[in-house]
Amino acid sequence: MSSYTLQPVDVPKIETKYRRIKTAIPVPESLPVILQLEKYEPRSMQGQPPVVWDRAEGFQVYDKWGNMWLDWSSGVLITNSGHAHPKILQSLRRQLEQKLISTYVFYHEQRAELVKLLTEDAPEGLDKVFLLTTGSEATENAIKLARTYGIHKGGEEKNIIVSFNNSFHGRTLGAQLAGGLPALKEWIVYLDQGFVNVPFPDGFFQEDTSFDIFLESLQKQGVKPQNIAGVITESYQGVGPFFLPNNYAKKLEAFCRENDALLIFDEVQAGFGRSGKWFTFEHYDAKPDLIACGKGISSSLPIAAVIGRNDVMDMYAPGSMTSTHSGSPLPVVAAIANIRALKEERLVENAAKLESVLMDGLKKIQEKHRAQIGFVSGKGLVAGMQIVKAFSKEGDKETAHKINEGCFRKGLLMFAPVGVGGMCIKISPPLNITEEALREGLQVLEETCDEILD
Ligand code: PMP
Repeated sequence: MSSYTLQPVDVPKIETKYRRIKTAIPVPESLPVILQLEKYEPRSMQGQPPVVWDRAEGFQVYDKWGNMWLDWSSGVLITNSGHAHPKILQSLRRQLEQKLISTYVFYHEQRAELVKLLTEDAPEGLDKVFLLTTGSEATENAIKLARTYGIHKGGEEKNIIVSFNNSFHGRTLGAQLAGGLPALKEWIVYLDQGFVNVPFPDGFFQEDTSFDIFLESLQKQGVKPQNIAGVITESYQGVGPFFLPNNYAKKLEAFCRENDALLIFDEVQAGFGRSGKWFTFEHYDAKPDLIACGKGISSSLPIAAVIGRNDVMDMYAPGSMTSTHSGSPLPVVAAIANIRALKEERLVENAAKLESVLMDGLKKIQEKHRAQIGFVSGKGLVAGMQIVKAFSKEGDKETAHKINEGCFRKGLLMFAPVGVGGMCIKISPPLNITEEALREGLQVLEETCDEILD
């Protein structure tokens, strides 16, 4: 893996309204913290740009040494309403004062408020919400519900979960069985025959985006449609972002209805306004049976949810589908305040409005560097640039890494490149970013690409 240098580099000083770099990068005084983490944590926790976060507010991240980054990471697409939103802080303070910070699944008032609130933006008929802690738990639970449903409806044979190549649903066992990145499941060895991957119609790696490919792939793998318990897809694939063509999504829903298979949209990354709609599946004429949520649900503390059809959500008896921290009070009040803030401040609309600024800016950069920027895609305030070896689809992770590090040194923060082999420069600012700040970030990205690319 390409790694960021820990040797402090004397980078040019920067002072703008949104960015300030006044030290060597990484900051020499920050190294003891980084080295302590590297000593006591598994290596897997390394790999992000070496800034020790001290404070994060709005769409900016600060260290202790006077540097300030314009944030295009939102953590990892968490802080949709902005870092440390004042209303979220206020709710957390109030909750602390109330002296209720842990409840297991005993009843509490705020949990009652949140589950009702979450159904208000879900499609009709999806009226129940199961609160969890992480995105992986939400996708795991959705998979479990789909398989349980299949077995109830069609017996043990109806147990197949269909998911897509290059998909990501988390790092736990079921989530990785469903995931479509083979390298991530080598550790499982004995793969469950009930998990089947099919090509994703991304329009880049998979040029034929017709629904026939879905059917052909199932047939080739010997899957009988009536044995499918559920189909799970990210509403956009994070490695792109890659969106479903609407016609494909429509046919996918029809296929699921015809075969009584549950359609699951994984909105862990895509939900709560990221793509310019409340849920990304709203861009398609397709309605899910289950929605997995996480990340942007609270813009802060860990909380996740499965929102679903009543009959599906009620399959398990009292006490048999729970989690110790389901609806823990602090994350719950953070989520309520976040949802209100997203609405009151019209941040979903802001994401939709700024899409053209972001995409026009990225396409302009691509025009200048056609050989190495193979594909640009995005909606709302999520976008990606695939960095390739000259006019191919082969990822160039070294160059992607250099662009990311170059931006970092100029005060524009993105998490490390993602995607197939790390070829994707992923852009995901908090949804409260202003047009002026977004344009400044684009200028930094353009300058950096001009320095690094042909
Ligand atoms: N699904 C998707 C689409 C995701 O992007 C992620 C996290 N990147 C997950 C599930 C897993 O979420 P978590 O890391 O909170 O378990």
